Amino acid sequence: MFNTLIVNKNDEGKTSAEITQIGLDDLPAGDVTVAVEYSTVNYKDGLCLGPGGGLVRNYPHVPGIDFAGTVEASDDPRYKAGDKVVLTGWRVGEAHWGGYAQKARAKADWLVPLPAGLDTRRAMAVGTAGLTAMLAVMALEDHGIKDGPVLVTGAAGGVGSVATAILAGLGHEVAAVTGRPETADYLTSLGATQIVAREDLNETTKRPLEAETWAGCVDAVGGEMLARVLGQMKYGASVSAVGLAGGAGLPATVIPFLLRGVNLLGIDSVMQPYDNRLRAWERIAKDLPMDKLEAMVQPATLRDLPALGRDILKGQIKGRVVVDVNA
Ligand code: NDP
Repeated sequence: MFNTLIVNKNDEGKTSAEITQIGLDDLPAGDVTVAVEYSTVNYKDGLCLGPGGGLVRNYPHVPGIDFAGTVEASDDPRYKAGDKVVLTGWRVGEAHWGGYAQKARAKADWLVPLPAGLDTRRAMAVGTAGLTAMLAVMALEDHGIKDGPVLVTGAAGGVGSVATAILAGLGHEVAAVTGRPETADYLTSLGATQIVAREDLNETTKRPLEAETWAGCVDAVGGEMLARVLGQMKYGASVSAVGLAGGAGLPATVIPFLLRGVNLLGIDSVMQPYDNRLRAWERIAKDLPMDKLEAMVQPATLRDLPALGRDILKGQIKGRVVVDVNA
């Protein structure tokens, strides 16, 4: 028997989470059984832990959209007992039981082996948010990053923190947008060279184009901020749109696309095929400075999760929460 955070929904539609002991036979079907070591708290986990159940497709449910651990048993020849693996995406923690448990079972295709240079804790310090940050940077690179500062919005959050550290580690000048001035020292320690106040970009303007300022952008916020940023991009520069922490609407005009050739690149970490995920994890191991990663980590246990789920939805988490499921 092992510990699991199970979320249930009652007849009135109210959800509740409790730590319960279950057995291997209770786990869903899958080719690989993993002894989970770490999971994390992502924005989607906040939604799934919240009162409406967010993206949860079936109850009872084990949330946790990512995890890292050691293979315990495998029906797939690519994995054997003892291998270290990481899982992100594929609706795990939404439609399939996730990482808030000491054991998990998943399809072999959803896993990747940990690349050299990453252990399971570091892999979850990166997690889905960090993998997405890497995919966003790779998309900017594919389209060519101009000379000048690269903007990161929602910078003190999970995606933003990792994107800041990766871009700075690659030698780019990074302008970090935050609504929390108290995180300025933290963002500077990750490599940001300029701190931009959130309110400076939240103010709406009637001007569809402003001074050409940003050589690229990783945007975790969306909404009015993204609309404003589009009009400030350099000619031909790209924005990797990752999230909607500031809203799903996009009150923009087509002018930045027509007159500045701006590229708006959508980034999805969920349905990434094996080869793309492996390539991104290998880049993370190579290009993310590990001392900076350590500075982002907030440790947690299964017991802390309900409160942390509420915090992430309020935009109050700094960096990355790493959940030690065995603590
Ligand atoms: P976090 O909550 O850790 O970070 C979001 C950050 O956005 C906050 O820390 C805050 O940064 C900023 N923010 C929050 N609310 C607002 C607001 N109203 N206006 C402006 N800024 C705001 O979440 P993550 O970094 O984990 O995820 C960020 C987004 O990316 C989410 O929407 C998430 O769903 C999405 N995502 C998408 C993925 C994909 O595959 N496309 C994968 C992973 C995440 P600060 O305090 O610095 O201002």
